[in-house]
Amino acid sequence: KLWSSREIRKTFLDFFAKKGHQVVPSSSLIPAGDTTLLFTNAGMNQFKDVFLGREVRPYTRATSCQKCVRAGGKHNDLDNVGYTGRHHTFFEMLGNFSFGDYFKEEAIAFAWELLTEVYGLPVERLWFTVYTEDDESAKLWEKVGAPRERILRFGEKDNFWAMGETGPCGPCTEIHYYQGEDLRQNTADLVNGPGDVTLEIWNLVFMQYERDAQGHLYPLPKPCVDTGAGLERLAAVLQGVSSNYDTDLFTPILARVEELAQRRYEKDSELGPAFRVIADHARAVTMLLADGVVPSNEGRGYVLRRIIRRALRYGRRLGFDGVFLVDVVPAVVDSLGDVYPEVRERLPVVTELLRTEEERFARTLNVGTDVVGRELERLKRAGATVMPGDVAFRFYETYGLPLEVLEEFAQEEGLRLDREGFDTRLEEVRRAGQESWKGELLARTREEYELLVERGVSSEFVGYEQLELEGATV
Ligand code: ATP
Ligand code: MG
Ligand code: MG
Ligand code: MG
Repeated sequence: KLWSSREIRKTFLDFFAKKGHQVVPSSSLIPAGDTTLLFTNAGMNQFKDVFLGREVRPYTRATSCQKCVRAGGKHNDLDNVGYTGRHHTFFEMLGNFSFGDYFKEEAIAFAWELLTEVYGLPVERLWFTVYTEDDESAKLWEKVGAPRERILRFGEKDNFWAMGETGPCGPCTEIHYYQGEDLRQNTADLVNGPGDVTLEIWNLVFMQYERDAQGHLYPLPKPCVDTGAGLERLAAVLQGVSSNYDTDLFTPILARVEELAQRRYEKDSELGPAFRVIADHARAVTMLLADGVVPSNEGRGYVLRRIIRRALRYGRRLGFDGVFLVDVVPAVVDSLGDVYPEVRERLPVVTELLRTEEERFARTLNVGTDVVGRELERLKRAGATVMPGDVAFRFYETYGLPLEVLEEFAQEEGLRLDREGFDTRLEEVRRAGQESWKGELLARTREEYELLVERGVSSEFVGYEQLELEGATV
């Protein structure tokens, strides 16, 4: 049977609803009242206080399909996107949660039943990982039917999960899936290795501690369960494709990019990453704008601006030289608009903000090209073969020109950009600026938003209000 992403989502939620879980809608990508998080990065975020025992809900079991973005903070996948088949900036996380209700035994039994009996995944492709000292989980996997040799142990890095530097955390057990062609190559050393032949699909976290700012662990009032399975990865596995980008969640968006670029998407070609980056970032940008994040030079808005610019930069490789990302948005809306109606409602604002940002970046590039061009000529006349790192950094900082664009310019003039020198400067400035990262410039957001209203975009836009209410910080 071939599963559509729509069926996969519904089947997951229905399965847990039948097991007594309350179906809870996704929360915003802007974490409500949480100053420790950049963007919502997991299904458990909206339940954080319930885990910590600070909030009580009328249910002790919940299930959700949560919008997530991992492009900053502790879980940052931005640089992977385009180069692995499994990492996205925006993705949907399916999950089930127990607030002091069931613990390891039921969590493992539910996961086994859903994967092997409902979705019908072949056991001979599955791997199970447990935290080094967690004998109990290893025994429970065996009890439900997992072959002993397919249960592996890993340490902190892979099998101890934390939402951020502080907050709820605990040991976890994960399910991985071998996606290769040759079952003889389906070996233990591919699990948690580089590459995505063996794919992590589901993480079951046994929330047992709260970590404070000093790194001390305190036991939670009651042990809890928090699980997360990436919908895009489940779709890859259940649709029998080796990359998330070949699933029904991405093919219509890639088709739109193909149409705009007048080029074919070929997975393994040199332009493959550019197509994937644009398709991925179009989703993230649409969803973030729809949730009220506005491009700016600080905090969340700055990360959004970086995602947009990264997409535009890769767009140049496909031959786009004008506004194009905003024309991919309708494909994203077709794909996600039924599941997240806010995207449809806020489409006019999303479109306007993105178009403005794309035009602004085009201007940046034009101004930057002139200034950098003059500097490169000066360097060449002086007999240089290298563009010094601090010079490059100055352009990066002053004009917002991405490093890769600067590198392109330098190469065109036959110069090499001193990346090491650049990185050193960047690191210095980053360290110095770490503190200012915490303050979202709300005034700036207001200014940009009001400008937009002035220009006549009238659409209900609750994002700004939400930002203000929550006093959002990063
Ligand atoms: P990986 O090791 O592949 O980077 P992870 O261990 O960081 O994944 P978790 O924090 O355990 O991921 O998140 C739970 C689940 O969410 C993962 O098992 C995976 O299915 C999904 N997931 C995590 N990060 C991403 C991402 N960037 N894009 C798409 N799905 C993701
Ligand atoms: Mg990761
Ligand atoms: Mg992992
Ligand atoms: Mg994991």
